[in-house]
Amino acid sequence: MAIALPRHVRLPPLPTVRDLVKLYRIKALKQLSQNFLMDERITDKIVKNAGNISDHYVCEVGPGPGSITRSIIKRAPRRLIVVEKDPRFLPALELLREASRDVTDMHIEINDIREYNMEKGFDGAPKHEWEDAEPPIHLIGNLPFSVSTNLIIRWLKSVSERTSAWSYGRTSMTLTFQQEVAERIVARPDSESRCRLSVMCQIWAKAQLKFTIPGKAFIPKPDVDVGVVTLIPRRQPLLNIPFKTVEKVVRSVFNMRQKYCVKGVERLFPEELRGELSARMLDMADVEATRRPFQLTNEEFVRLCGAYVTLCDERENLSAFDSRMPKILREQMVWG
Ligand code: SAM
Repeated sequence: MAIALPRHVRLPPLPTVRDLVKLYRIKALKQLSQNFLMDERITDKIVKNAGNISDHYVCEVGPGPGSITRSIIKRAPRRLIVVEKDPRFLPALELLREASRDVTDMHIEINDIREYNMEKGFDGAPKHEWEDAEPPIHLIGNLPFSVSTNLIIRWLKSVSERTSAWSYGRTSMTLTFQQEVAERIVARPDSESRCRLSVMCQIWAKAQLKFTIPGKAFIPKPDVDVGVVTLIPRRQPLLNIPFKTVEKVVRSVFNMRQKYCVKGVERLFPEELRGELSARMLDMADVEATRRPFQLTNEEFVRLCGAYVTLCDERENLSAFDSRMPKILREQMVWG
């Protein structure tokens, strides 16, 4: 079988990203978490970690003045969509689009990534069955810190529902996060960093922390280092339960990270049923009440979610109970 080798192309001479930022007098906006990478070796390394993208479909989130964009274009994707909220970058991105006309079909979307319809953007890309190899589609981004955690949760929901970019199959993600968040995403049981985000990411995806970019590589320099993480949706997610239910159980259990996990489990149930149902849930899931949330494995969380669903199936309304509801509403609820 012939193996398609990644293509590397040279762009025609262009002003450097540094010069463009000066030319268009672009000052980084703190509220959009703008920290720019100027070092081509680092942007090349980020793109290399996305795997082979030659002749593939790529969506870059938050291209800014386009340094990662240049590294992506050098690898000759078939289509490149860049989604940038700040219109001040349009001239720099248009320059890149002109320069790469013969290499790739580049689309510029001045939009908030949370509003952008990725399914439409990838229209025409091949669809793969979930169980098959990953489709030739990639999401790459040096994400704004302010939206990154929120965005990854939204995207995991889409992964679980196989919608948006994941209606094409197991689309991969290569993303940057604050180092601390990157460590949380990949944290194993017993780790200091283990939290809700670790479990949510690991249930639906294989997450790897690839390398760390020192803060000083960015202009302006952020207060933290940055971790580059790849997330590849699992062929077989660890469970098949609606995202919202899993999120509810995992959030509740982690509510008191250092306390016994039974404390978090109890919060899933109304006071009058708390003792009985939390004991049954832990028993069904075969999880010891005295383990701490950060010690629990992904499999133990999967069993806890399964047990919770079984208990909710037994009693009407139970799934609607939320300990964060106003007391007056909770008191009006009746459990079948
Ligand atoms: N990719 C560039 C680089 O590495 O030098 C810029 C990275 S900067 C950390 C984040 C970029 O995301 C900024 O250009 C910012 O304007 C953009 N951005 C912020 N919020 C966004 C959103 N909700 N949707 C799309 N882009 C956003």
